[in-house]
Amino acid sequence: MPVCKACGAERKLIQAHIIPKAWSPTIDQDGRPPKIISDNGFPKRAPIGIYDSDIVCAECEKVFAKLDDYATKALLTGQRESVFDIAFAYPCADRLTILKFVASLMLRANWSDQDAYRKVKLGSYTEKLRGLVFHDAPVTEIDVIISEYDQGSVPWFGPYKQRMDQARFWVLSAARFAFWIKVDQRKLPSEFSGISLRTGVKLLSVIREWKSSKQKKSMADLARKVQAKFGPLWKSHS
Ligand SMILES: [Zn+2]
Repeated sequence: MPVCKACGAERKLIQAHIIPKAWSPTIDQDGRPPKIISDNGFPKRAPIGIYDSDIVCAECEKVFAKLDDYATKALLTGQRESVFDIAFAYPCADRLTILKFVASLMLRANWSDQDAYRKVKLGSYTEKLRGLVFHDAPVTEIDVIISEYDQGSVPWFGPYKQRMDQARFWVLSAARFAFWIKVDQRKLPSEFSGISLRTGVKLLSVIREWKSSKQKKSMADLARKVQAKFGPLWKSHS
């Protein structure tokens, strides 16, 4: 019997989406599957909704499915309000539930053997993320910031690592969003505290222009802009 990576039990494992179907890149106007930008920079076509059949048992998949449903309703298709064209606020989305959803995506990517996720290695953070997703463990080192592109249909990027002010992040793309997941004991750089899922006041997603791209710089600039406008408003709990 195979072993479920989430609960450790010997059980039949079931097919699980790494990125939930609703969050997978969509078919383009010509009916072709989406592009994946690979390491060598050449786009290739991706199968719709990458899934893996040797990660979790049916019980553990239910935990993922519940988070997926919530995030789809609250974030992907949820009500959003423009904040001066710099960010979107999602008034109906609970920050900490979305944090768990993103952590669960990261775990699935870590456990998957699919090519697209092969690079993802979380090491000791695997246990921390598992504790957070399956047992509500208070893991304060893990934090998430969210950005989204200003157009809906963008190529899908495989996960990559990024450092900001020394702190290590993984960046995961899903639908129009990019999730920046801090897996580090170092604190989140201060310019991001207002948009952090852990310390922000409301759930905010920073809008990025699809055309401009240099990840770190554009994210930091945008976060500063947002904070400059709303800084005092966001300085409540930390
Ligand atoms: Zn299980």
